[in-house]
Amino acid sequence: MITGGARPSGEQGRSRPVPRGASAPRSASAKVRGSAKTRARRPAEAESPYHGIHVAPLQPEHVKIRWLKDTRRCDHVRVRRHTCDCKSTIYELCHAGGLMFIRRTIREGDAQIAHETERLITARMEDLWMRLILGQAR
Ligand SMILES: [Zn+2]
Repeated sequence: MITGGARPSGEQGRSRPVPRGASAPRSASAKVRGSAKTRARRPAEAESPYHGIHVAPLQPEHVKIRWLKDTRRCDHVRVRRHTCDCKSTIYELCHAGGLMFIRRTIREGDAQIAHETERLITARMEDLWMRLILGQAR
């Protein structure tokens, strides 16, 4: 007797993995749109073309400028830049004898109190001038 080779009957059931737990479509995060801000009106003086530089409010961390008494040296002083005349305190970036300094004049009524910084080379004093304008030095 010949026994026919029995074929192993393997079940070839194809089971497709069922996609499950298909993530729900993410709700598109709503873009937070800033409401149109009505721009705060700047004070008229800031827009006036007749105004000069206004020094920024003093920053919490700032360099303290050492203000010296006005030496009233009789050398030739050229004012390179100055802050706006509308304030009671005026700062002037001055050039004299190859050096620069800042002069501060505080007006109180008719009186004027003037002080000056030490005199430094142009680059250093221009840096201090910028800090003064930005409120980083006073
Ligand atoms: Zn002004």
